[in-house]
Amino acid sequence: MGKTTGFLEFQRLQEAVEAPLKRVKHWKEFVQVLNDEQAGQQAARCMDCGIPFCHNGCPVNNIIPDWNDLVYRQQWKEALDVLHSTNNFPEITGRICPAPCEAACTLNIDRAPVGIKSIEHAIIDKGWAEGWVVPQVPTHKTGKRVAVIGSGPAGLASAQQLARVGHDVTVYEKSDRIGGLMRYGIPDFKLDKHLLDRRIAQMQAEGVQFCPSTYIGQAQDQAAQEPGLTVLSPTDLEQQFDAIILAGGSETPRLLDAPGSQLQGVHPAMDFLRIQNQQVAGSRGTPAISAQGKHVVVIGGGDTGSDCVGTSTRQGAKSVTQFELMPRPPEQENTELTWPYWPMKLRTSSSHEEGCERDWAINTVELEGKNGQVKELRAVRVEWKTDPATGRMSMTPIAGSEMTFPADLVLLAMGFTAPVRQVLEAFAVDADQRGNVAANTDDYQTNRAKVFAAGDMRRGQSLIVWAIREGRQCARSVDEFLMGSSTLPR
Ligand SMILES: Cc1cc2nc3c(=O)[nH]c(=O)nc-3n(C[C@H](O)[C@H](O)[C@H](O)COP(=O)(O)OP(=O)(O)OC[C@H]3O[C@@H](n4cnc5c(N)ncnc54)[C@H](O)[C@@H]3O)c2cc1C
Ligand code: SF4
Repeated sequence: MGKTTGFLEFQRLQEAVEAPLKRVKHWKEFVQVLNDEQAGQQAARCMDCGIPFCHNGCPVNNIIPDWNDLVYRQQWKEALDVLHSTNNFPEITGRICPAPCEAACTLNIDRAPVGIKSIEHAIIDKGWAEGWVVPQVPTHKTGKRVAVIGSGPAGLASAQQLARVGHDVTVYEKSDRIGGLMRYGIPDFKLDKHLLDRRIAQMQAEGVQFCPSTYIGQAQDQAAQEPGLTVLSPTDLEQQFDAIILAGGSETPRLLDAPGSQLQGVHPAMDFLRIQNQQVAGSRGTPAISAQGKHVVVIGGGDTGSDCVGTSTRQGAKSVTQFELMPRPPEQENTELTWPYWPMKLRTSSSHEEGCERDWAINTVELEGKNGQVKELRAVRVEWKTDPATGRMSMTPIAGSEMTFPADLVLLAMGFTAPVRQVLEAFAVDADQRGNVAANTDDYQTNRAKVFAAGDMRRGQSLIVWAIREGRQCARSVDEFLMGSSTLPR
């Protein structure tokens, strides 16, 4: 433990941010990393608990008390080594993880947990700035070949782990750039894309080969029809590789089941976000979907919805409104009931702070249009009740609560239901009850010999930190499968 009385002496310090009115004029990140002294002081708040709940709350089991102690002592390089021992991409999680570790931190009992995420951010940014993050080239090659399908955090983490123990790894990605949802889902103002390019260069130096614009599946699949794609069949891969990891994410969006949802101006959130990310990456021409000068309604209150809000604001929307079907959560969690678990409480993202109307317990009834273009959204307020016998919640519309909102652009951010079915069919892998690839977390193996699965494609839509965990654990399992044993951590 760095400083015995640190948690009594120092207050939690949030990372400074650029003012909303300024930052909405650009697409760059706007969070300022803590300086060495600030990070050292924040790390001094850690009590090095006998049972470090933070460590358990973190899906990659980051060894948080240890790096807090090292940062307090300003031993940054050692802190970086500890951080990298459990997490391949801390520059990502240090920026956009919702930090379940902080919800689990003992200091969260009085609602001022250790600023674990901001310390992680400081460690990794310093590591890159000092030139300490270098390729870890394997000292021997095994001669085994592994194909990874999908270049999101699960695919990249598994590829990096496997390349570092000497396997020849090829990552296939149907998009023109590597990174999965980190590249074309999450906006640049939350995650600058040079962070991905830097890691990809490191992985290339470690021996990973990347094949963007390459779809794995059958030539007749809908996703294979994009111009400029190379299409490889599962049989091609099975002949060439000793193991295959399916890490294709959960890409089927939940759509709106209401009259008028086919009107122009109604889009799944990812169609909208992808176009803006491509624009920032240098695509020319007028974006096919834009919020500029429009009344925007975002349906869905999660991360994706919030990214639609921030993107619409930056594009110059006339108004941005976000609806959530579930009731408004409490401002503060009841820590005595929830700690150390993830609490239900109102979360206000940086995009919300930039300006938008939010409303809860609202259900869209109908979209109305003129000349085929959406113009209005009709909604009704709903009441949620919990059945005491089953604990299940159900909603009923409140009579007389019908409302109408102007809507020129309606973005559907209601989550994702499952991976794309054709990919599962092409590989002949079994699905679980929810339509995800069936594989357990002991070995990540599917019903097909040498085919493994990890990330959202296996667990359903989730978080980056869970995808990294699955990618790492799956890599160990693949290594064991290929070599009989593995030195990779789980
Ligand atoms: C808009 C948005 C914002 C989010 N914000 C956050 C956040 O702030 N913090 C957080 O922790 N999580 C966030 N998430 C969730 C997070 O991005 C995902 O949980 C995570 O990216 C899943 O990683 P993955 O590797 O399993 O899959 P993905 O990142 O989905 O990557 C899968 C990749 O596989 C490719 N692919 C699929 N099928 C094929 C095929 N047949 N051939 C070739 N390539 C294929 C896809 O093109 C894709 O690039 C967000 C999600 C969205 C949609
Ligand atoms: S739970 Fe909080 S105070 Fe305890 S070891 Fe983890 S970060 Fe430190």
